[in-house]
Amino acid sequence: RLEIRNIVRQFDGRAVVDDVSLTIQAGQVTCLLGPSGCGKSTTLRMIAGVEMQDSGEIYVDGKLICDTVFRVPPERREIGLMFQDFALFPHLSVADNVAFGLKGSKAEKRARVEELLHRVDLFRFIDGFPHQLSGGEQQRVALARALAPRPRIMLMDEPFSGLDNRLRDGIRDETLSLLKEEDAAVLLVTHEPEEAMRMADEIALMRSGKIVQQGAPYNVYTRPVDRSAVAFFSDTN
Ligand code: ATP
Ligand code: MG
Repeated sequence: RLEIRNIVRQFDGRAVVDDVSLTIQAGQVTCLLGPSGCGKSTTLRMIAGVEMQDSGEIYVDGKLICDTVFRVPPERREIGLMFQDFALFPHLSVADNVAFGLKGSKAEKRARVEELLHRVDLFRFIDGFPHQLSGGEQQRVALARALAPRPRIMLMDEPFSGLDNRLRDGIRDETLSLLKEEDAAVLLVTHEPEEAMRMADEIALMRSGKIVQQGAPYNVYTRPVDRSAVAFFSDTN
């Protein structure tokens, strides 16, 4: 379970993230949905620990990982990351890419890598290199890599935006079923209402640094909080 409370981040005296609170249960996908510049990536970066909030707290499974004085470093947060520029390590094989963050014996790591590559249907590329894979295949390797250490929390920032429409739907569905199997708490950032409708258990609608509406996709879609939410949903991005 991921919990953020009253997170604020200012740049040049402007609150880019302005008192954001969210709770995401294990096995649940929450989509942070909103227009460009509203503060989505900044929110994610604070949870990942690569950016510091000016105030507010972050908890994982009830344990404080960050407030304004105490801070667990990013690499010890048990948080999986998948960003748009998900770049695999070009000089490492597919297997080594997936094994990258793993601890344990060689045999244990190998078993986990094989399991995940089977699940993303890329086992045949286990000894291949990134440049031999298509964009969609690379993305699936990146997903396997992010899931390999069994993160309790998964943060995804527009992870599908580099893909063409045809590939995207398939990968969205695969990703979703993998995340559900792993029982991770997922925060997925997107500016596409359609993606949020498809993936989310809950949508948090963000605007100018604030969460203006939150709820089940159907409710957010059918009962928009105001005119500008209507406009946002009907925009064909
Ligand atoms: P997009 O959908 O375009 O990715 P976003 O919702 O992810 O947008 P953020 O990247 O969180 O938006 O940025 C929110 C605002 O904060 C923007 O106006 C941006 O210019 C500003 N901002 C982000 N990082 C910094 C920084 N390091 N210094 C100054 N301003 C910043
Ligand atoms: Mg962003």
